[in-house]
Amino acid sequence: MAENKIVLPGEQVSTSEELLPGDGTFEEDGIIRATRVGTYVVDEEHRKAMVKPLTSIPVELKRGEIVLAQVGSVRSNMVIANVIHVIGKKREISGDRNGTLRVSEISTGYVKDPATEFAPGDIIRAKVMQVKPNVQLATKDRDLGAIKSLCSKCRHSLVKKDNILECPNCNNNEKRKTADDFGVYDPNKL
Ligand SMILES: [Zn+2]
Repeated sequence: MAENKIVLPGEQVSTSEELLPGDGTFEEDGIIRATRVGTYVVDEEHRKAMVKPLTSIPVELKRGEIVLAQVGSVRSNMVIANVIHVIGKKREISGDRNGTLRVSEISTGYVKDPATEFAPGDIIRAKVMQVKPNVQLATKDRDLGAIKSLCSKCRHSLVKKDNILECPNCNNNEKRKTADDFGVYDPNKL
């Protein structure tokens, strides 16, 4: 991957054949992936792949803001997602980052089981509906939902084809509540 590109958590930045995993990255099966939203850089001296945070000044979440969150767990009536970035604010988030997305807030249509819409590891764009006493999120709008998802079988990035997400590596098909720019979002507009 080219240096200075803005990346999302889980995104592949390099391989363990090329570089060592450094700050802001981890290695999994020979692939070096980002752990945070940030800028990909290479420490040439130590041959390390690193993802630098966009900046380090904390920002508090506010109601109505659009955020990126990474899905942690999917339960019978809700999704738990870790808020990782506020759109347009290149800052770290302070305070509670643990967001709840109720099944009724996922889509404008009826959703019976959140597991048909999101999977752990998905990067979703969501609206902050409430901050206190806990962070509540919603993904009903067209521009909200998953923007990046990995194949549950082989962890390759999924590609959107019509209303299905397809894995170009193993041909697995999956479904998500996707944002309308799934896979083609502009990293510079984060
Ligand atoms: Zn796959």
